Amino acid sequence: MILTVTMNPSVDISYQLAEFCIDDINRCEQYSKTAGGKGLNVTRVVHQMRHPVLATGLLGGELGAYIERQLQQEKIAHRFSPIAGDTRNCIAVLHDDGKQTEILESGPVVSSVEAADFEQLYDRLLANVDVVTISGSLPKGVDDALYTRLIQQANTLGKKVVLDVSGAALTQTLQSDSKPYAIKPNRDELLAIAAYQPTGDDVSDLQAILNSELFAGIPLIVVSLGADGAFVKHGEMFYKVTIPRIKVVNPVGSGDATVAGLALALADGRDLADVLKIAMTLGMLNTMEQKTGHVDVTKFAEYVAQVQVAAL
Ligand code: ADP
Repeated sequence: MILTVTMNPSVDISYQLAEFCIDDINRCEQYSKTAGGKGLNVTRVVHQMRHPVLATGLLGGELGAYIERQLQQEKIAHRFSPIAGDTRNCIAVLHDDGKQTEILESGPVVSSVEAADFEQLYDRLLANVDVVTISGSLPKGVDDALYTRLIQQANTLGKKVVLDVSGAALTQTLQSDSKPYAIKPNRDELLAIAAYQPTGDDVSDLQAILNSELFAGIPLIVVSLGADGAFVKHGEMFYKVTIPRIKVVNPVGSGDATVAGLALALADGRDLADVLKIAMTLGMLNTMEQKTGHVDVTKFAEYVAQVQVAAL
């Protein structure tokens, strides 16, 4: 069983407009509203791969209830902790031939009692899972060290954590004594937290960054590189993962699908090459679909066979 943690979920609204008119009325006929947030994208992809998954985090208000109904309809197991505030909306306007304008609400303010209730629930849920994924930002009001405590608790029980957060939250977690088993920054997220001036030689730059003190003690680091696959550090070894050229429909959420692949392959006890191949394949399959956090599992075998892992 995989436990996915989404502390700041959202109902994601996507509006498709031929032309986006500022300071005017935009009428829209093509739109969708889905349970979103990075952790829920991970959840959906794991579920589509028919691997047991349980979604947890914080939900509140009408939009929180909407997300629970959607998960129920999709037959996805979920145990969220309730909050008094309202779960947020995130809006993406897709317009003018490939442009994307986003409005992301910061979300509810969570009280210390609500955060403590969640931690108690998390401790109970941990007992029955093999792997935990932690994705996305923390809502306001929750103390910054929460992710560190979730990782520490999982480590104590011998459960692997795959962490997919960025910026200060990532730096802070990496500086603590409780290390996640795996992290999956993309190239930009990695460069943003590395105190390093790139020389332009991609391989030696990535090696130098991942060898720095900040990343010490994390068994598996997967730097996803979009169409270029991934650069990986496992223990003291480095690997380059190469993927085939594909036709991309919508790349949003491909990092989340990659995290789903890491988690389910680790939960199944697969070897490193398989873990990386499965993760890359789910990232690719997500980019081939219009809907975020969706993969066509019937294409899995065809694409996983084309992913190559080479030790450097
Ligand atoms: P994020 O969504 O976190 O920014 P990436 O863009 O690196 O992450 O994508 C994660 C994975 O999804 C990649 O490693 C790759 O497997 C797949 N992917 C993303 N974009 C493309 C693309 N343009 N072509 C092929 N695969 C892609």
